[in-house]
Amino acid sequence: MSDSQPSVLVVGSVAVDWVITPRAEREESIGGAATFFSMSASYLSNVRLVGVVGDDFPKQGIEDLGARGVDLDGLEVNPEGKTFRWKGKYHENMNSRDTLDTQLGVFEAFDPKLPEHYRNTEYLFLANIVPALQLKVLEQMQTRPKLVGLDSMNLWIDIARDDLVKVISKVDVLTINEEEAMQLTGEHNLVKAAKAIRGMGPHSLVIKRGEYGALLFHDEEIFSAPALPLEDVVDPTGAGDSFAGGFMGYLARGVEPTGENLRTAMIYGSVLASYNVEGFSYDTMKNLSIEKIQSRFDRFSRLTDFSKAALD
Ligand code: AMP
Repeated sequence: MSDSQPSVLVVGSVAVDWVITPRAEREESIGGAATFFSMSASYLSNVRLVGVVGDDFPKQGIEDLGARGVDLDGLEVNPEGKTFRWKGKYHENMNSRDTLDTQLGVFEAFDPKLPEHYRNTEYLFLANIVPALQLKVLEQMQTRPKLVGLDSMNLWIDIARDDLVKVISKVDVLTINEEEAMQLTGEHNLVKAAKAIRGMGPHSLVIKRGEYGALLFHDEEIFSAPALPLEDVVDPTGAGDSFAGGFMGYLARGVEPTGENLRTAMIYGSVLASYNVEGFSYDTMKNLSIEKIQSRFDRFSRLTDFSKAALD
């Protein structure tokens, strides 16, 4: 990626996961919202990462992110503690999962300080992490980024709702999954939930629906992006973050966030997410190419292409 192109700054978890699926299991799987986001976005734009790991974080993770050109000046290594750990088990349908364990580790005392050259980044994504930390990062920006995106999850809706609502009020685009949208608003109808969330601040909203794709609400319009039907889903962990990476990465190429461009960004998000779920951790995302991304983009286009036929 050329240095003259804009960058996207991401703050979020960098983690070690223990992933159990109905067919396989991986302990010590490199994960975290910011990790998946960065891997994915790195194909489309320059990426800067803010996060923290402990003394146990695999060196491979740092090497892989570095090899993708991700700027890691904002990744703090705290030798006094352990990396954030998450353990999850997927149900037979791979579309839902249970969290078996979460250990905050070095997250608990993390006080992000943005390196000087991060403070004017044009695009910002506040990936999943404690909302108070998302706020701290936003407050350290010297100029208001052109576009700020945000992701969160049920845990923070439960235990940090006030901070979450505060940060939601300051962003342009919220990406959230279907159940969380309902939990956040108390609405069981997605259109009503979307209206309530946009009333909280963001002009656009992406509701992620796992294997059913994602919906974009912007202006008075709704756009539906499918997920690619795949025969072999290996590990859905990080699909939402990879989606966000493709979505923001495309916008961070400097395109205006018009309805048309947001729709294209939704498809780039879906492309990257579809690659991510084909392997554990970010295994399948670390060796992609623009050609592969483009060819899957074309498959998405075929998936939804149909002719207008008049009935006589
Ligand atoms: P996703 O599948 O897109 O929801 O993202 C999964 C990633 O989120 C995993 O790699 C986890 O390490 C990370 N994660 C799980 N719980 C949390 C949490 N409470 N805060 C931040 N990141 C989390």
